[in-house]
Amino acid sequence: MKFIRDIFAEKKATGKPVVSFEFFPPKTEEGDRNLLEKQIPALIATRPDFCSVTYGAGGSTREKTLMIVDRIQREHQLTALAHLTCVNHTQAEIGSLLEKFRALGCKNILALRGDAPGGGEFQLTPGGFEFSSQLVKFIRDAGDFSIGVAGFPEGHIANKISKQADWQHLKEKTDAGADFVLTQLFFDNADFFEFRDHVTKKLGVQIPIVPGIIAILSAAQITRFTQLCGSKIPPALRAKLDALGNDDEAAMKFGIEYATQQCEELLRVGVPGLHFYTLNKAHSTVQVLKNLGLA
Ligand SMILES: Cc1cc2nc3c(=O)[nH]c(=O)nc-3n(C[C@H](O)[C@H](O)[C@H](O)COP(=O)(O)OP(=O)(O)OC[C@H]3O[C@@H](n4cnc5c(N)ncnc54)[C@H](O)[C@@H]3O)c2cc1C
Repeated sequence: MKFIRDIFAEKKATGKPVVSFEFFPPKTEEGDRNLLEKQIPALIATRPDFCSVTYGAGGSTREKTLMIVDRIQREHQLTALAHLTCVNHTQAEIGSLLEKFRALGCKNILALRGDAPGGGEFQLTPGGFEFSSQLVKFIRDAGDFSIGVAGFPEGHIANKISKQADWQHLKEKTDAGADFVLTQLFFDNADFFEFRDHVTKKLGVQIPIVPGIIAILSAAQITRFTQLCGSKIPPALRAKLDALGNDDEAAMKFGIEYATQQCEELLRVGVPGLHFYTLNKAHSTVQVLKNLGLA
């Protein structure tokens, strides 16, 4: 399996974007089967460069992150990126988790702080890490992993100072040893461009910054989602979603068109990749990639 930093270097040389998909560990066995036997194979048929698997706030889904990463790599010979958070972990626990990832042949970690279980304020675990930059440094010191971090084009929801203050912390993560940035989802490309220009030109961040893209599946779902992660729904998009109401089929069709247009503009300006939040459903992401000629 490859280091993701090498994938970015190889693709840069070809002028093609790095395409990646994000999955989350399902809560049920039926969800596992659907993801592993239907959705992942359908998405992998489009030949992405890597897939990532999120890491939950606690409980059994944490073990499933390792299981899904392992199956993606073994069954599809595709590089996987394991998300890892500081929530409820001591440094020693993180150290043994890294050993487990290494034993599975997983060479890539997305280093995150994570959020509190249930959505409350993050609590520092005694003997753990307070910020993701500390986790990045720990992983870098632990050995040879390629490390990704999260970036927030609209600023992180918990940073009450300013988005620029949050972006400064992204610089700390890159200085600590991150190799690439995957961003939070956003719907206005202007937010991404402002963020990218600030961190590259003003702060000197030089690693690939990859926009996070979601194809909307339903108005209700994206409203819930954005309330949790703090991404805004621009007024014109809000009006369109309100007009679509509960018609999920129409919302999905519209979501594919919207994401396609967003990606077309991002590709025109030369982003290094596209990271898709698949929500464990293949259809919309596959359609967007087909529209872009990238499937
Ligand atoms: C691509 C992507 C994937 C994600 N995957 C997961 C996942 O798998 N599991 C999960 O639980 N969550 C996931 N998240 C959500 C993420 O964990 C939360 O948004 C979390 O609140 C912030 O994580 P971070 O790594 O950016 O934290 P940090 O970089 O630690 O930042 C957290 C907050 O602290 C501030 N901060 C950072 N450093 C300092 C400092 N030195 N002093 C003062 N303030 C500081 C930042 O501005 C920010 O407000 C993901 C997010 C993205 C964008």
